[in-house]
Amino acid sequence: MKTAWETLLKDSVRNPRELAGCLPLDLAGAETVTAVYPMKINPYFLDLMLQKGPTLIRQVVPDTRELLDPIGMDDPLGEENYSPVPNLTHRYPDRVLFLVSSECPVYCRFCTRKRRIGKTGAVTTRALTECFRYIRAHREVRDVLLSGGDPLLLSDERLEWILSSVRSIPHVEIIRIGTRVPGALPQRVTARLCRMLKKYHPLYFNLHFNHSDELTDASKQACGHLADAGIPLGSQTVLLRGINDEPSVVQNLMTSLLAMRVRPYYLLQGDLTRGTNHFRTRLETGLKILRHLRGRVSGLAVPTYVVDLPGGGGKVPLIPEYRLEQRGREAVFKNYLDQEYRYSEPTIP
Ligand SMILES: *Cc1c(COP(=O)(O)O)cnc(C)c1O
Repeated sequence: MKTAWETLLKDSVRNPRELAGCLPLDLAGAETVTAVYPMKINPYFLDLMLQKGPTLIRQVVPDTRELLDPIGMDDPLGEENYSPVPNLTHRYPDRVLFLVSSECPVYCRFCTRKRRIGKTGAVTTRALTECFRYIRAHREVRDVLLSGGDPLLLSDERLEWILSSVRSIPHVEIIRIGTRVPGALPQRVTARLCRMLKKYHPLYFNLHFNHSDELTDASKQACGHLADAGIPLGSQTVLLRGINDEPSVVQNLMTSLLAMRVRPYYLLQGDLTRGTNHFRTRLETGLKILRHLRGRVSGLAVPTYVVDLPGGGGKVPLIPEYRLEQRGREAVFKNYLDQEYRYSEPTIP
């Protein structure tokens, strides 16, 4: 028998014709797009987006602009180039990105792995075993980040097999899971799942939320259950044109997340993924949002704004400039209210 969340997933809308029964849609356009980049919207998210409107609809409904991207790349972060074994990317010295699942609760139109999602089959046991072998052989790996797809779309049993296999590697200190499930399919966060997860501490989650319209009673409850299982929750937000590229929208999201025990981690500048040009903003837009947040809300609510550099350079932070000039030992600053202040460095060299 299927569980409630499995039934929801099975009933996902994948066909533009079916979607056209729910909202005004350029059906022919949507069909050309889904022939290249598939669509998937589960019934929970579908209901929510019909209630909330464009903030959610734009994230998951195909748009013909996806086929008109002049500069995007299939693999903008060079994940395949830094991949010693399939499904694993080892870009930084002490941590690896491990793609354990090829399914998601919804297909985000701005997905960085648009090249794969909904197009590759399930990640095989053999492929996973090769990755365990790699991690075991690389003693510098102390942090394993499970992603996909979404790791929480695996069954409890399969996910537990992966977690216990990684946990059995002595030099792995922490395990992280990246997931959109609490915001896009909160029914998946069951008591059974939480009981299983808490056996594999230290386990950290990074959740994906882009707009406070995603914060429903159900998603708040899901986050509460995970936090009660002792899992520190962070969040990642993708900066998206026409969805959350306004200071007040991000402020509202970040402070609401904190109130749900979710600590904002990254605000991500859009990657140069083919088919996502129309979602990307100028860098100045993100910097303006950061300038707005700092000082105005709890420091805990201020994420790090990062650009993941094309070609595999990794993530770099973008930080608004507060130091206006340096005159000898004296630095001139402006604070969050744009007032000038001076700070003197020590007189010893
Ligand atoms: C983002 C990312 C990580 C994790 O980076 P942190 O800054 O440690 O959160 C690790 N590996 C890859 C390939 C990544 O893209």
